[in-house]
Amino acid sequence: MNPFDLLPPGLKKRLIRWLEDNRGLVIVLFCLPASFIFDTGLSLYKWFQRTLLSAPERHDARVRQIQRRVGDWNKQDAASRRPMCTSRPNWLSLSTTFFKKSECHRIPVDLYDILHLDTERMVVRVEPMVTVGDITRYLIPRGYTLAVTLEISDATCGGLALGVGMTTYSHRVGLYQETIVSYDVVLGDGSLVRATADNEHKDLYYCLPWSHGTLGFLVALELQIIPVKQFVHMRYIPVRGQKQYCDRMRELSGALDKDAKLPDYLEATVFDRDSAVIMVGNFAKVDTPEKAAKVNHVTRWYKPWFYKHVETFLTKGESDEYIPLRDYLLRHNRAIFWVLESMIPFGNHPVFRLFLGWLCPPKPAFLKFTTTPGIRAMTFSKQVFQDIVLPMTVLEESIDLSEKLFDTYPVLIYPCRIYDHGPSNRGQLRSPKSDQICPGANYGMFYDLGVYGTPGPVRRKRGYYNPVESMRAMEAFIRKVGGYSFLYADIFLTEEEFNEMFDLEAYNRARKMYHAEGAFPRLYEKVRPEVDVVKIGNEYAQAE
Ligand SMILES: Cc1cc2nc3c(=O)[nH]c(=O)nc-3n(C[C@H](O)[C@H](O)[C@H](O)COP(=O)(O)OP(=O)(O)OC[C@H]3O[C@@H](n4cnc5c(N)ncnc54)[C@H](O)[C@@H]3O)c2cc1C
Repeated sequence: MNPFDLLPPGLKKRLIRWLEDNRGLVIVLFCLPASFIFDTGLSLYKWFQRTLLSAPERHDARVRQIQRRVGDWNKQDAASRRPMCTSRPNWLSLSTTFFKKSECHRIPVDLYDILHLDTERMVVRVEPMVTVGDITRYLIPRGYTLAVTLEISDATCGGLALGVGMTTYSHRVGLYQETIVSYDVVLGDGSLVRATADNEHKDLYYCLPWSHGTLGFLVALELQIIPVKQFVHMRYIPVRGQKQYCDRMRELSGALDKDAKLPDYLEATVFDRDSAVIMVGNFAKVDTPEKAAKVNHVTRWYKPWFYKHVETFLTKGESDEYIPLRDYLLRHNRAIFWVLESMIPFGNHPVFRLFLGWLCPPKPAFLKFTTTPGIRAMTFSKQVFQDIVLPMTVLEESIDLSEKLFDTYPVLIYPCRIYDHGPSNRGQLRSPKSDQICPGANYGMFYDLGVYGTPGPVRRKRGYYNPVESMRAMEAFIRKVGGYSFLYADIFLTEEEFNEMFDLEAYNRARKMYHAEGAFPRLYEKVRPEVDVVKIGNEYAQAE
């Protein structure tokens, strides 16, 4: 029972209003310290796991144990057994949804080890629960990083593989899935297969990304690595005018010319419809006193939040600096892009940063762990968290639509190749349309539109905002232009609309062929929000 329910309705309403109005204070006084204790406990546990329990040589034995458990599930009465999922608690996942794992048969997939680094083949073999934080800590001192490294340190290599991964290096190599050399998967019948792009399981290989654990249990994967230098030379280019910054992004990403010289990293933060700062990053050495004077450790606790630092270049003009690579890769971690501003409005004040900045960000796992039904409803009714894959051809249109529907800035943009693998290598993404293909290449240039924040009318406590209407209008646009919603976030799609957005033909074939029917939930069942977002969203809209 929710303790608020014990209060008289009038008092309950006033108390909730007070908590909402003073959210920053409540978060600083209670949430941050509690999150710190929670995080310390979790980090100690992870350290224990990494150092004392780490045993890469026991990988095969651990996989056999998973196979045995799946075998036991197969011996249950077929009529009454429930589909399987991993036993990893929902609160550890970065997804905003809470899949009802209690309705499934849970199998522990406790695989946390980095297994092998092969610098000749330029691949690293890992178990699925290795996090971005773990792998960057391991690879960077050795002179490498993953070809696609997400900015959030708690994301797991396995979660990114079976969900989606896309970063500011993706205009060079495409999605995370393009950098996966092999997947080791325990299937619904308990057998173990290795799927690569050209072996007898290539049909499975192409359907595993965006499958969210509905085709099997991932037990290991090989990922491409790239050589790096220890710094990123970052150029900040402020641009006024929407057409100007959109054109510049198309040009810099190579969307117009497949032979264009590409920067290593590329992104833009759009601060309002007509102002953006484009960030162009290249691997660099810091080998002169002039360069050393320009080094900026952007992730240190007392430093301004990264996007606030970026915003200053709108007034200061074009500039550059050198960012240590790990700082660069995790630059958005401390302010969770700009999500933290809606939680702690004064969190970027220098005094706050100096004394309490080290407590930030509140751990995503802690936030999820303490989510009540009311807070869960707020995550999609009074806030927006969406990453959307769209073709570069609709860049201007999508920014205008995002402003109309959500009225929130900043907005994140970074380009990504979407490859056309041909009709015999189909996955859940469709081949880019002919007008989206980069001239002469086998890929189209798409981008991630990241919209995170509080919609204008909710922020101003004035005006009308209906999350259902806004989200469904955005999803209709995504379907119309051949884009995709990231499935870690809440979707408002009906199953029919979902099937229209994604190409599920090869996936459905793979489910039959690889014993997933009945053994694992279907994709739509797995990723749709566990609550009725349409009903709750409409109720909240009325209340505004
Ligand atoms: C504010 C914010 C911004 C974000 N921005 C980006 C972005 O720019 N780019 C980007 O790519 N992502 C972004 N994300 C998405 C986020 O990083 C994803 O959720 C990520 O894909 C993986 O998270 P995870 O490791 O918690 O995976 P999980 O959520 O744990 O896993 C993903 C799915 O795979 C299943 N699964 C995981 N491991 C296994 C296994 N071993 N066997 C079987 N099934 C398994 C899970 O059940 C789940 O369905 C953002 C998220 C947030 C909150």
